[in-house]
Amino acid sequence: MDLKVDLGVFGGSGFYAFLQNVEEIEIDTPFGKPSDKIAIAEYEGKKVAFLPRHGKNHQFPPHMIPYRANMYAMKKLGAKKILAPTASGSLQPHIKPGDFVITDQFIDRTTGRKDTFFDGPITRHISPAHPYCSALREIAINTGKDLGITTHEKGTVVVIQGPRFSTVSESRWFSKMGWEVINMTQYPESYLARELGMCYVNIALITDYDAGLEGRDDIPPVTEEEVLKVFEQNNEKVKKMLFEIIKRTNSENHKCNCPNVELSELGI
Ligand SMILES: [Zn+2]
Repeated sequence: MDLKVDLGVFGGSGFYAFLQNVEEIEIDTPFGKPSDKIAIAEYEGKKVAFLPRHGKNHQFPPHMIPYRANMYAMKKLGAKKILAPTASGSLQPHIKPGDFVITDQFIDRTTGRKDTFFDGPITRHISPAHPYCSALREIAINTGKDLGITTHEKGTVVVIQGPRFSTVSESRWFSKMGWEVINMTQYPESYLARELGMCYVNIALITDYDAGLEGRDDIPPVTEEEVLKVFEQNNEKVKKMLFEIIKRTNSENHKCNCPNVELSELGI
């Protein structure tokens, strides 16, 4: 089997299998081993690679995920596009559990994570001003709407370190800033894709309201059980959407400003 893939998919919490008739491969990288074996299969004439970012047994909590190894492995396999669903919380009342958000900006509140491929001697300064691929975002938005899923066209995701959730004050601060979504894995994953010149889209799957919402006693703070339950309910919906996005991606018509550099040009 030719292992060159067209695109990669990262699975999040509760999402550990995606493709059928897969070939599983183990990859090593200069940045260590990825979270698990990578499953490769063909779908609609495209080669797709799937990797659960937490590992199949959810053995890597968000702050321990080998983000660099995961992204490097996808790049090495030839993936030019990455689809990245994430279990997320809502920071705004109009974004409800069960909704999807195609995020367009992130706020990094993580600490101590390995978040660059350029630790020296090669030095590069890459701008994440617009961290997500405009073309993939458009496909994701249209696909969500066509499938009848409530899909918000943009949103800023606050990425917290985890594994703990937020205090009421932290959550109130994020909400008051007008930010929409909160999760634990969008940084540095999305930025690392940008460093490697890959097109990347995040689909934030809203499972809960973060620490409850200001003045809304009917909306309680999140529990872990609740997150996993709603995420499971969303699972089939997400997979259907991802398959449809894969069907709609097309290299010839793909116009965006992502850098699309080859690994050899990066010197890593
Ligand atoms: Zn792009």
